Amino acid sequence: MIRTRFAPSPTGYLHIGGARTALFSWAFARKNKGSFVLRIEDTDLERSTPESVKAILDGMHWVGLDYDEGPFYQTQRFDRYKEAIQQLLDSGHAYYCYMSREELDALRAEQEERGEKPRYDRRWRPEDGKVLPEAPAGVEPVVRFKTPLDGVTGWDDAVKGRIEFANAELDDLIIARADGSPTYNFCVVIDDWDMNITHVIRGDDHVNNTPRQINILKALGAPLPVYGHLPMILNENGQKMSKRRDAVSVVDYAERGILPEALLNYLARLGWGHGDDEFFSMEQFVEWFTLEAVSPSASRFNHEKFLWLNAQHIKAADNARLAGLVAPRLAASGLDTAKGPALEDVIALVKDRAQDLNVLADECHYFYQKLAAAQSDLDKHLAGDALARMARFAERLEALAEWNAEAIHALFKPFCADEGIKMGQLGMPLRMIVCGTTQTPSVDAVLALIGRDEVLRRLRG
Ligand code: GLU
Repeated sequence: MIRTRFAPSPTGYLHIGGARTALFSWAFARKNKGSFVLRIEDTDLERSTPESVKAILDGMHWVGLDYDEGPFYQTQRFDRYKEAIQQLLDSGHAYYCYMSREELDALRAEQEERGEKPRYDRRWRPEDGKVLPEAPAGVEPVVRFKTPLDGVTGWDDAVKGRIEFANAELDDLIIARADGSPTYNFCVVIDDWDMNITHVIRGDDHVNNTPRQINILKALGAPLPVYGHLPMILNENGQKMSKRRDAVSVVDYAERGILPEALLNYLARLGWGHGDDEFFSMEQFVEWFTLEAVSPSASRFNHEKFLWLNAQHIKAADNARLAGLVAPRLAASGLDTAKGPALEDVIALVKDRAQDLNVLADECHYFYQKLAAAQSDLDKHLAGDALARMARFAERLEALAEWNAEAIHALFKPFCADEGIKMGQLGMPLRMIVCGTTQTPSVDAVLALIGRDEVLRRLRG
């Protein structure tokens, strides 16, 4: 069975790069009827926080990426890592290194002076016929992995194609610190093995870790997963996304009025494509998704396209659901949607005018309370005898036998003829007085929804 995982380090929120990694891992598992595992990589005790774990879980929940197993926490698996470290020590694939921090710094300084790349010189690595230094008293050793000295470690990356590293370029990396705690690369390897992960789909910032992880897996006699490294997401200026410059927490997008399915749709399109398809559901994405169709190069966030997609998803969304999302926004502006037309009906009328939910809420505003109009607009649309004319139109509205958009619409032509005006000379002042803006959908439908009493009150107020 196909098994994938998302393995965030809880040192911040769920950012959109992470969400995209999670999305692709999730989609690959779903498409193949496999299992999607969530693993929290919290071994960095200084940088990991419970708040961040919560933020990541909340983010996953908000976008709707459901996992089948987990969350598993690495900090709960230390005994297992220790056992695996012992296995490597016993099989001769790892060794104790007593080099002190000072010695390592001195070595680095010498190497840098010689213009060499700083690296551990393997002085504690046991070899046939090599005499090791005497273990200093009172020093707790680290455990290092015995990386093969020659040959290459490579893999067929499911996204980037063949990648190879010369083993001579890889250090004998530390797998356990002096206090016995396992290091990052080691925990990942043991977890991917124990959790039977078949496909490791992650950001390409991990490409350099992969040969190290493969060598450890081989030394443990574990099967190798398929690796697929996803390219970075750049901001609009082609820079790496950053918290400071770019809004990158998925929860930020919730506040900005983005629908989670729109965010996922857009993230799916960042670095992956299916012909000319731009707007699609997650069901379609899962059906179409392949790792081969992921682009190996970085993609750029395009805000305009993102908002366009959000608008499409707003149009497609259920009105009752949208009402649930818009109501708190209107309440925050002090509006009581219980008084006035049903929010769902208002949304049905205005939803195709909004690129995000905050704009959608703005579009609903005047159904509950007239907007404060700009003086320049008032001057423009209510000049001359427009106000008196509106009072005459109010009479006709009041006299209508039935209150609906068609009946209101039927008043327009005869009224304009009687007044000797064009439709715009009725429609614009009418919108201005009733709504406080001329930017509204068709005015008959708007008046019908606002309701007769309230329309007359506004016209005569
Ligand atoms: N914990 C790593 C991160 O947050 C991901 C490790 C992995 O996917 O192998 O970047």
